[in-house]
Amino acid sequence: MKFNFQRVKIKDDIRYHLVDYSSCDCIEKLGMVVVGEKTDELTGGNKVGAFIERIEVIEECGYNWENYFYYRINKCPICGENIEIVIGEDIDITQAYLNVIEECRIINDEIEKTDSKKKEVELFKRRRELDKIIDRFFCKEEFILGSKE
Ligand SMILES: [Zn+2]
Repeated sequence: MKFNFQRVKIKDDIRYHLVDYSSCDCIEKLGMVVVGEKTDELTGGNKVGAFIERIEVIEECGYNWENYFYYRINKCPICGENIEIVIGEDIDITQAYLNVIEECRIINDEIEKTDSKKKEVELFKRRRELDKIIDRFFCKEEFILGSKE
């Protein structure tokens, strides 16, 4: 199995994006293997890899929440096929990010200045689109085997 990631940089922030992959059919059926950047329960430290996810429900004082634990695997637990993680060249998208931030700033100024309701609605619409783009810049990419359509 092979998972190709790309390191994406925004200023000092580093994200890993899954570019493409190939995997055995059996591991997809497990449905609890996560490929992405996780902290391994046994060795610690953040690493990109394939992990078995274990969810523990904790109940305390009438509240409950879920704790997630990740255990790194190097082979498919069913057929034994090796899992290869390839991390390609860095892409620096800092400038693209700064451009979007700048457009947000300009739109905010225009929203403050405009007297036109119609224009304001349009500006807010564009502002929401930009917010979504910003969210996408920082979304952590992980991939759960077995969950794809
Ligand atoms: Zn397999």
